Amino acid sequence: MKKRSFALFLLLCASSTFSADLHYSLIKKESGKTNESTLLVIGGIHGDEPGGYFAPMLLAKHYTIQKGNVWIVPNLNFDSIVKNRRGTYGDMNRKFAKIETKDKDFEIVSDIKKLILDPKVDLTLNLHDGQGFYRAKNIDKNFNPKAWGQATIIDQQKIPDAKYGNLAEIAKKVNQETNVDLIEDVHEFNVKNTNTKDKDKAMQQSLTYFSITNNKPAFAIETSKNITDLSHKVFYQLKTIEKFMKVMNIEFTRSFELEEKVIEELLKDVGMLEIPPTKIMLNLSTLKPSIRFFPINKADFHYHSENPLVAIIHDKNEYKIMNGNKLISTLKADMMEFDNSLNEINLLLDGKKSTAKVGTLIQAREHFEIAPIQGYRINIIGYSKEGVLSEEGIKVEPSVLMKSYAIDKEETTYMVHFYKDKKFCGMVNIQFIQH
Ligand SMILES: [Zn+2]
Repeated sequence: MKKRSFALFLLLCASSTFSADLHYSLIKKESGKTNESTLLVIGGIHGDEPGGYFAPMLLAKHYTIQKGNVWIVPNLNFDSIVKNRRGTYGDMNRKFAKIETKDKDFEIVSDIKKLILDPKVDLTLNLHDGQGFYRAKNIDKNFNPKAWGQATIIDQQKIPDAKYGNLAEIAKKVNQETNVDLIEDVHEFNVKNTNTKDKDKAMQQSLTYFSITNNKPAFAIETSKNITDLSHKVFYQLKTIEKFMKVMNIEFTRSFELEEKVIEELLKDVGMLEIPPTKIMLNLSTLKPSIRFFPINKADFHYHSENPLVAIIHDKNEYKIMNGNKLISTLKADMMEFDNSLNEINLLLDGKKSTAKVGTLIQAREHFEIAPIQGYRINIIGYSKEGVLSEEGIKVEPSVLMKSYAIDKEETTYMVHFYKDKKFCGMVNIQFIQH
């Protein structure tokens, strides 16, 4: 087995006039062998369909590919995902037949088209949450031929001469297998053929039809918007993706059991956020919904997270940390100049001499004490003592700290800021752990 590590760097840059603010990420998981199939999974073309982007995020994070290749774009329409809107600049899935160069989606649509047409890609899946529950016959307002949910969508029966070109047959086989273990019987998947070429003008502008007209198989997977539990939607999306992998002879292992409860837990793990070069590290899974006095360098602000759904949206002096369409925390910015000269500090952790890199998260049981640093001022957020300018050489226990200044929901983690004159030099965050 060949293991591949991957790292993702998300950069928030000033947007150029004709492109979206956030570009998608591409995660390639490859077995490293030649002549094996490649599946391209695209999530998040519609920003208000979270099943379609949290599933590929877990696929990217928790799956190892042992045979074949899986390329994952979990966040195609990232600007719309963080706003929880179908399409901030209009419906992206209606821009694949033609798009004007001045369209804000132009760059993303052009880039993803190139990826779909990459000779290595054998099959593309476009993930959605659709309205209702698709049924071939009309049952009621939720179960009918016009609904989109719980369906594998094809544009036509087949693409002659293409590898995996028997679209209808593949979709049917995949659904049969997905339908073996349903959370509820009404969640069954069915194949919806939109007969795009003859019958569906709107779908002629879609991503999958673009692929089909280029002789490359593509399917849409639609879980239902009527299923309210995100973990259930993600369960069905992952299950269906796995069945497609099976069809394509792609072998994988995953680090968890595919069950709704397990998925629910995995979705709570948002990961870490790093703000370089100012040396700040935050645990997004435990962060408070709002944090005051957060130093921000307006001149040079960027960040990275290994979670491809994490983005920071800036509005005046507020910085909103998003995990997909979920707001994790709002940082109330303290705008200031930054200085990058401090790398390491000395401290006592529970009385023991220790060093810590600036920008790390460290743990203490009972108390900590920051050693003086020549030329720098230390500010423990949540601690104050009259007449003390630099909070060094002070034994700090949880009882002397104001809990409202803690940065995590459990109120056990506090920021220690370092300054040189008035410039901010980074922070360490100290968490008091239970003993
Ligand atoms: Zn959609």
